[in-house]
Amino acid sequence: MDTDTYAEKIENGSSLNSVNSIQNFKSRFHIPKAPNGSDVIYLTGNSLGLQPENTRKYIEEELDDWASLGVEGHLHARHPWLPYHEFVTEPMARVVGALPRETVVMNSLTVNLHLMMVSFYRPGVKRRKIVIEKGAFPSDQYAVESQVKFHRVSEPGAVATGFLSSDTKNLAAFAPNPDLIQLAPREGETTLRTEDIIETIERYGDEIALVMMGGVNYYTGQAFDMKAITEAGHRVGAMVGFDLAHAAGNLELRLHDWDVDFAVWCSYKYLNAGPGGIAAAFVHERHARSFGLPRFAGWWGHNKQTRFLMGPDFDPIPGAEGWQLSNPPIFQLAALRASLEIFDDAGMANLRSGSVELTGHLEKQLKEIENDRISIITPSDPTQRGCQLSIRVRDADKTLFEAIAARGVIADWREPDVIRVAPVPLYNDLTDVFRFTEILRDSL
Ligand SMILES: *Cc1c(COP(=O)(O)O)cnc(C)c1O
Repeated sequence: MDTDTYAEKIENGSSLNSVNSIQNFKSRFHIPKAPNGSDVIYLTGNSLGLQPENTRKYIEEELDDWASLGVEGHLHARHPWLPYHEFVTEPMARVVGALPRETVVMNSLTVNLHLMMVSFYRPGVKRRKIVIEKGAFPSDQYAVESQVKFHRVSEPGAVATGFLSSDTKNLAAFAPNPDLIQLAPREGETTLRTEDIIETIERYGDEIALVMMGGVNYYTGQAFDMKAITEAGHRVGAMVGFDLAHAAGNLELRLHDWDVDFAVWCSYKYLNAGPGGIAAAFVHERHARSFGLPRFAGWWGHNKQTRFLMGPDFDPIPGAEGWQLSNPPIFQLAALRASLEIFDDAGMANLRSGSVELTGHLEKQLKEIENDRISIITPSDPTQRGCQLSIRVRDADKTLFEAIAARGVIADWREPDVIRVAPVPLYNDLTDVFRFTEILRDSL
């Protein structure tokens, strides 16, 4: 298809209804401007989502209430601070397909991953391995590896196994961590096959304590079959958790129905709650009253009726709220409210269908460029990806990325050789996709 007919198609909107039906939401976001005053082509909502229009207003309301009420704001602010995190529980639960009592907004992502692993990674003598994707996001790798080490050092004789040396420089000299099973693509392939993930889980069987993977891999953009992985993990008696940093607000999730044990995610990527925004956690309701599990406790996880009696004994709230530590950051929650109200207006099902279409158009146009300097490593099956496409650049030639950046495209470069682009259905449209591919074609 030549570009003129494509441009016409965008103009008259034929067969693009679902993309068009969600374009309205663009006006509810601030779109950054290029130096020449036009909107940038923003394709990094997978890294930092854009600012909703109401964010400033909601944060300012809290600043005003703090100024005029001081501590009284805990009870008398327009949105009282004491129960403030509850204002986002239900909308957040809707985004990930969870029950409200399975969902809590708190802390930051990696903190929540550690808290969940404290409770749900319980290595025994035989059942002690963790299944993770090779090439998982570094923070997840560090968190998982440090949890394994943490449990090892607590065991008598563990240090003798060697790999536990406290001198991390020596670590590489030892065998790879025997308690980590790292899923890698087949030779010559860039993404994992579900059948291979399941086969690995079955092969290690009762040696696996925990399966802990991303919902969508940050690098390749591959979305995993969380339902099938959870079933496979449970069949061998393991716990199953997911890091949904790149999945929440991107895919339609059914955490409750899929029977996932726990999940964690951040809110600053697809959920548009601002840099360093507050994160969330899911704990399946079957664990709501698992008070026998170890957990790191804090006063905000304590029974709300008796919290302010300041007694010495921890009485956890049943459900995900029982994992809270601290009284929550109100400004961050205010920002999250502004974003989640847009998600409620749009609906995840609607967003997802628009997203499949938008990314489908991007893929189609990229394939039409037919230049062997670039190739897409993200699966082309829409059920195996969210909105992101990862474009591998031949010879790791970063000048291509620099060239598109100079022309107003905000994408990102991930070492060694990938440009990630994520058209987000809330605020990207076909015009962005079209302008991006034009610029890329020119730059090639
Ligand atoms: C973005 C991201 C993180 C970042 O962790 P923070 O604790 O929010 O800094 C961690 N894991 C994954 C998979 C991510 O995509």
